[in-house]
Amino acid sequence: MPVIVIDPGHGGQEVGAVHGQHREKVFNLIIADKTARFLNANYDAAVHLTRIGDITMGLNERAIYANQLQARLFVSLHVNAGGGTGFESYIYTHAGSTTQQYREIIHDWLAGFYKERGIVDRGKKKANFAVLRKTAMSAVLLENLFIDQETDLSWLLNNDFLSALGTAIGQGVARALQLDDKKPGGGSVPVRVPVTTQPDRARQFLQAQNPAAPDFINIYVEMGQLYRIRWDAVFAQSCKETLYWKFGGSVKPEQNNFGGLGTFDGKQRASFKTPREGIEAQFQHWHAYCHGGELPPGRPELDPRRRAVLAAGWGGTVNFVEDLGGKWAPSPDYGVSIVRDFMARFVDEVMPATGPGSGPTPPPQEPAPSPQLPGPTPPPQEPVQPPPHSVPEWNPAAEIQRLREAGLIVDDHPPDANVTWGEFATVINRLRDKYNLKG
Ligand SMILES: [Zn+2]
Repeated sequence: MPVIVIDPGHGGQEVGAVHGQHREKVFNLIIADKTARFLNANYDAAVHLTRIGDITMGLNERAIYANQLQARLFVSLHVNAGGGTGFESYIYTHAGSTTQQYREIIHDWLAGFYKERGIVDRGKKKANFAVLRKTAMSAVLLENLFIDQETDLSWLLNNDFLSALGTAIGQGVARALQLDDKKPGGGSVPVRVPVTTQPDRARQFLQAQNPAAPDFINIYVEMGQLYRIRWDAVFAQSCKETLYWKFGGSVKPEQNNFGGLGTFDGKQRASFKTPREGIEAQFQHWHAYCHGGELPPGRPELDPRRRAVLAAGWGGTVNFVEDLGGKWAPSPDYGVSIVRDFMARFVDEVMPATGPGSGPTPPPQEPAPSPQLPGPTPPPQEPVQPPPHSVPEWNPAAEIQRLREAGLIVDDHPPDANVTWGEFATVINRLRDKYNLKG
């Protein structure tokens, strides 16, 4: 699957061009988000953003990130300033023929989009910009309109226009790379995009289920930006794994293990010194799935199971929350459950009753009740009762999942892994304890 890196220019203290109260960095991130979501929804590609939040990031760091991912294309998004109007594109001064060809296609497609709106095409340019020079793959930089020109600014403040622009950039990229259409049945909630969920929504969602829960939501928000993974999904998974941080299962609260992470040998649950370390380890586990091998610069390795994910060949294979099924846990529905049973209750974009955000507010409407929606206690997951006198389906992964949920085993064992006598005896003894069998 081709890797595409979208680079929203500037960020954090580095605001880019300024005009009145407007900051270039904000527009760049919105356009990048819309481009990424369009590509995620329509094409078979792994789309990464150099930043998914408002954080400061050096030019070197952006190039290194794309180089580590071995991306096929790097698209840097900017807004112009300093006298002028319209759109222009850049490639490196000494760009090769593939890059030139990609730029031709993307530029011409976008010029058509702009022309329909009476916006000027300023041409195909070359420059010795750091992100173009230091990226090892083809790289194109787009200057979308001028922040300090009133007509251009009015376009930039028009959300429908920004959506259309994100789509047009995505279409240009898809044409340049000849991307395949997305296969039907894939996931719907991309993992590496900016999050619009308000932290208070997550807080209220958690408090309603567990009034005694500590407030670590800000750690999730911070780690999400650092690891470039949407924090609302990681937090939702934590609610699933720990029963809303009540830790009713095999993990004790003092272990600070918010993702239900196993140890390197998979035989017991990991412990972390502080909640912050436990949450960061959870993000590192996601990071292995969503990004692959290299942790963000300077981060200590905390997740004891990260290397197991990479060794299994799963590094960077998760593009949607739903893709976690069969990987983080054996159940193919694991990621679907995070979306359906948890995110759908506090994340607007996932909620079934929410429209695309235009028009009047729809009347309050209860989402169709789903038998899988958990209340304060989680329902047993899919305890399919076979009809009388029939032989039940043979489903090893689901059986392992049932043992996990019963607390008899504690990790995501592959169905065909060998079992030791020690593990076998442990399960038997846990059963004996559970049913008070003293014999
Ligand atoms: Zn800029």
